[in-house]
Amino acid sequence: MAGGWARDGAVQEQIDASIEDELARLRARPPLQGESLSECAECGDDIPAARQAALPGVKLCLACQVARDAQRKTRPGAGRRIVSCADATPPLG
Ligand SMILES: [Zn+2]
Repeated sequence: MAGGWARDGAVQEQIDASIEDELARLRARPPLQGESLSECAECGDDIPAARQAALPGVKLCLACQVARDAQRKTRPGAGRRIVSCADATPPLG
């Protein structure tokens, strides 16, 4: 069908390209599979058995996962700073 300024199919091509980009991004991510760790890969804290059971292949404790997710959401593209669990834990006392 006749489009406005865009030639036929241009919009669809753009959508397809976006989907391909997203799929490539998902494929590039390490899959959350395999054996769950009993200790956090980042801080070494114990990962509760319930968490291991709920998330097969889990590698991080909750604190580290939350910190990582928050970092991803708030600062896209700036997620290279290493966050230790100390940053995610409220100060004691
Ligand atoms: Zn941790």
